[in-house]
Amino acid sequence: MLSGQPSSAGTNWAGNVVFGAAGVHSPRSVAELQALVSRGGALRPIGSRHSFNRIADTTGHLVSLTGLPPVLEVDRPSHSVRIGAGLRYGDLTDALHRACLALPNTGSLPHISVVGSCATGTHGSGTRNRILSAGVRSLTMVTAGGDIMTADRGSHGDDYSGVMLSLGRLGIVTELVLELVPAFEVAQTVVEDVEEEVVEEQLSAILSAAYSVSIFTDWRSGRLQVWVKERVGRPGAWAGSPVWGGRPADGPRHPIEGMPPRNATTQLGIPGPWSERLPHFRLDFTPSSGAELQSEYVVPASEAAAAWQALGAVRERIAGVLQVSEIRSIAADDLWLSPTGGSPAVAFHFTWIPDKEAVLPVVAVVEQQLAPFGARPHWAKVFSTSPGELASLYPRMGAFRRLVTAMDPAGVFGNELVDRWIGLR
Ligand SMILES: Cc1cc2nc3c(=O)[nH]c(=O)nc-3n(C[C@H](O)[C@H](O)[C@H](O)COP(=O)(O)OP(=O)(O)OC[C@H]3O[C@@H](n4cnc5c(N)ncnc54)[C@H](O)[C@@H]3O)c2cc1C
Repeated sequence: MLSGQPSSAGTNWAGNVVFGAAGVHSPRSVAELQALVSRGGALRPIGSRHSFNRIADTTGHLVSLTGLPPVLEVDRPSHSVRIGAGLRYGDLTDALHRACLALPNTGSLPHISVVGSCATGTHGSGTRNRILSAGVRSLTMVTAGGDIMTADRGSHGDDYSGVMLSLGRLGIVTELVLELVPAFEVAQTVVEDVEEEVVEEQLSAILSAAYSVSIFTDWRSGRLQVWVKERVGRPGAWAGSPVWGGRPADGPRHPIEGMPPRNATTQLGIPGPWSERLPHFRLDFTPSSGAELQSEYVVPASEAAAAWQALGAVRERIAGVLQVSEIRSIAADDLWLSPTGGSPAVAFHFTWIPDKEAVLPVVAVVEQQLAPFGARPHWAKVFSTSPGELASLYPRMGAFRRLVTAMDPAGVFGNELVDRWIGLR
């Protein structure tokens, strides 16, 4: 029995995608979810709707897991937490604090669902920090046949690396077990007025200067902001210098000019819990600008300086439709569809103005400039990289396609965009 009628499918967070799905089911139990899947028909899991493309859409119904009984079980001895799929990162903090544990890293905002983020390769910054799905120890999902399957690193061999970042294409994830580390404090400092030439020359040194570093540029002013998030007490910690020719900001800042600094997490080098410093934005406030599109491309770290120059060559095109760009570093992992699979990487992010017609031609220019560096697009953002190019960028794409065909032969969790990306259409 399914409880309630489906509600209307609505839009994504940014409002640029009106879902074509017939509606949203919100099962109240895993058994109800299994019954829904077993009934047949196209379904697609949806998280907190923060993706900027049609990755979550379907010709059938969306399935939201926010109605499932909440699961949040911290296991101190094994440094892990079991969570239900309805949770956002911001919902985990209190329980982790009480157990003196922490996630190693977060994305820029606590508003996003953990499962949706892990499905798309969401990441924060830090040369030693991997994407968030690389910290998933095990995953439980309802498969296309309506069965429950648990995949963990020990028992699923090579396929584990295909399952942990699967764009919602293999099943509806109901629970994750995440790896934790002992709780730590972070001090966040914004260094501003750093000249672009300095950043270009010292890009790798700046990105590895602290636990997590983000460089913000508008590609216009030539004066950049560097957001330095340092773990308190880390051996060799950044302690206020170097400032790369800039200066520490004398008050709180927002990465986007004109947006209120109170939306951002505490800065000025004041130490605080990891969960209140690693995200740029506070849970109770609008993240980023709120009216925007986003794109992001990941290049091997060894290509980052050259990629920066290539983007600089088209700065006027970029600046014309940009709110802000963010450059971050990410450690390598071994997940098949990970943008950082196989190599440490640097990500070039663009927060665009909310005008698709004006932005898409510039996205194409950015892709052309970054193509020589093997740039992999963020799965959840706006991009036009062709399926052929994606196949050449992801050596395990064929293995993922075979896994999809084996696990979901009828295409229950099919999605036009994803199926094109992975070569199923
Ligand atoms: C303001 C803003 C800031 C952002 N900052 C960052 C950032 O710092 N770093 C970064 O990497 N990205 C960032 N993103 C992108 C964001 O992390 C991704 O869009 C992420 O997927 C959001 O999770 P979600 O739950 O909203 O996903 P949704 O958009 O709801 O869904 C994304 C995908 O996850 C799948 N999915 C959702 N739930 C399940 C489930 N239960 N089982 C299986 N699959 C599921 C969906 O089918 C879909 O394919 C940002 C986005 C916004 C809007």
